Amino acid sequence: MNIFVCVSHVPDTTTKVQVGGSGKEIDPSGVTYILNPYDEYAVEAGLQLKEARGGDVTLVCVGPEAVKETIRKGLAMGADKGIHVVTDAPRDSFGTARAITDALKDRAADAVFVGRQSIDYDGWQMCGLLGEMLGIPSISVVTKLDIAEDGTISAERDIEGGSETVTTKLPAVISAQKGLNDPRYPKLQGIMAAKRKPIEDVAPAPYENRVEVIEMTKPAIKEAGRIVGEGPAAVKDLVRLLHEEAKVI
Ligand SMILES: Cc1cc2nc3c(=O)[nH]c(=O)nc-3n(C[C@H](O)[C@H](O)[C@H](O)COP(=O)(O)OP(=O)(O)OC[C@H]3O[C@@H](n4cnc5c(N)ncnc54)[C@H](O)[C@@H]3O)c2cc1C
Repeated sequence: MNIFVCVSHVPDTTTKVQVGGSGKEIDPSGVTYILNPYDEYAVEAGLQLKEARGGDVTLVCVGPEAVKETIRKGLAMGADKGIHVVTDAPRDSFGTARAITDALKDRAADAVFVGRQSIDYDGWQMCGLLGEMLGIPSISVVTKLDIAEDGTISAERDIEGGSETVTTKLPAVISAQKGLNDPRYPKLQGIMAAKRKPIEDVAPAPYENRVEVIEMTKPAIKEAGRIVGEGPAAVKDLVRLLHEEAKVI
């Protein structure tokens, strides 16, 4: 089976991200990057499918040279090889999906796994875009997955107040939600082996963004809390302020 997992190189959630000088992009200095947490579930799903049905797991990442580090993290979990679509130019979701599709189109993908969302730019668009561009079904936000030997997929998805079970057939794009599995930790042996696994560099076709970033801002700094008084005597003022100023009641 040709199993592909798309991985995204994102700032560590503990990093304090700053807006760069252009006001349109993240300042990368001092930022630690990690494998997008939802992609750990996607990599695990790919590895489990390989263990059940055989084949290869190939990771795909679009981005600058630095993303190789993230591809290596997925290789350390057990994936076999990587495809790095090398580009420094900012790409919108459509352009990223286009670049992945171009890289995959002649590789007879049986299954393409992505994460639910990339926690940096939060587009949530990749699963549907890739399904459409590759001309195969897509199932988003999957929490339970069964793929039968004839390629029939049964997938459970979270929906408002419950879950639903859907079915389709491989080849398909599947986006992984937290809870789908327990991603394995890379072992020392896997980390060492990852250094020798092949990563193929691919150049993307030229692309003009459909959506342009105009400005990037950080949330306003929250004002310090105010103590309006103490004990039952303060309740009247507190209720008035919550109603008139905070407008929450
Ligand atoms: C070189 C580069 C520069 C960028 N610069 C900017 C910028 O300055 N400002 C801005 O707002 N956005 C920027 N982006 C991000 C871009 O606009 C999209 O947000 C991003 O490509 C992913 O789309 P999404 O947010 O819809 O993904 P989502 O749908 O949220 O992600 C779901 C899944 O798609 C896969 N995926 C996402 N991104 C990638 C990737 N790059 N490679 C492989 N798989 C991926 C992962 O499996 C991920 O879990 C940049 C992207 C690239 C590649």
